[in-house]
Amino acid sequence: MIQTEDMEFAPRIITPENTQEDSDTEISLRPQNLHEYIGQDKVKENLAIYIEAAKRRSEPLDHVLLYGPPGLGKTTLSAIIAHELGVNLRVTTGPAIEKPGDLVSLLTSLSDNDVLFIDEIHRLSRAVEEILYPALEDRVIDIIIGKGPSARSIRMDLKPFTLIGATTRAGQLSAPLRDRFGVIQRLELYTREQLTDIVRRSAMILGIPCETDGASEIAGRARGTPRIANRLLKRVRDFADVMGNGQITKEIASIALSRLDIDELGLDSLDRRMLEMIIKGYSGGPVGLETLASAINEESVTLEDICEPFLMQLGFLGRTPRGRVATRLAYEHLGYAPPEKNEKTDDGQLSFEQ
Ligand code: ADP
Repeated sequence: MIQTEDMEFAPRIITPENTQEDSDTEISLRPQNLHEYIGQDKVKENLAIYIEAAKRRSEPLDHVLLYGPPGLGKTTLSAIIAHELGVNLRVTTGPAIEKPGDLVSLLTSLSDNDVLFIDEIHRLSRAVEEILYPALEDRVIDIIIGKGPSARSIRMDLKPFTLIGATTRAGQLSAPLRDRFGVIQRLELYTREQLTDIVRRSAMILGIPCETDGASEIAGRARGTPRIANRLLKRVRDFADVMGNGQITKEIASIALSRLDIDELGLDSLDRRMLEMIIKGYSGGPVGLETLASAINEESVTLEDICEPFLMQLGFLGRTPRGRVATRLAYEHLGYAPPEKNEKTDDGQLSFEQ
């Protein structure tokens, strides 16, 4: 059953993080090759060249760092890279590699030119990161054997491999680690047209009848994120089955998404609470992120990683050195009269105080 009244306490339907429900279908919905991967054209073009060059030289691909908000296709792209290279893919995450020994056993188990994918690479511990530096640069690892004065260090050669690191926060990566990636690519939020194609493709795979207008309606409210688009598709299908004949039309999609408390631009209750607090609680800002987060009882990382990229893309939110500000567009969207003369919100343009 879908509850709409308690949305504030239920997990957000538009969280871009992976949920159990996504995992159930994620594998079947993942594009298998660069051709099926929709959007991110610049990234794809560059990678296609690097992959081809590596294959011609029978060398591993240079280490790749992919960054951007969650749900944009970083894991999917890594699997595609391994597939296009014709090598194995090992998948892990920064927090899962607890000790240097964990990383050593991962690295030594790779075959020639394999791809090792580390999600959330900014969360690697310092000790683990230090093992990684010589591994990335010279394909060697230094292992300390024994303890105390009798401890000695042994250097071990590794097979050639490619590390693909993914992160939502490139800024948190240490400079020495960032410098060891030869290819650094940023994934962008998707356009409505690209997401419409993704929804139509997913509907076809899942056997859901979906009109183009219906797909476009879902795409327009998926905050630029394929994972959210796929999740909304599944929720809207429930409404189409119960309220209609199973076919997703524009009308059914619109009713379903409004019932899920997602407005026509894709804002959900948390985005609105955040903007309303800036507008009503802090006269439009600036207000510091931590202050704002505690005022609406949310974690600051949620606001920073999930709400802000999208609200800034819409031009609803600005970041200034003194904190966050709501723009004129945000006032108008939420139905508030913008302040008479406000240099922070005029024409939705922000004047950044230095
Ligand atoms: P991330 O690793 O960035 O969090 P994922 O790679 O797990 O994101 O992508 C989430 C889901 O979105 C995937 O299961 C896939 O179905 C879909 N997806 C992502 N990018 C694309 C794309 N470019 N084309 C089609 N589907 C995509």
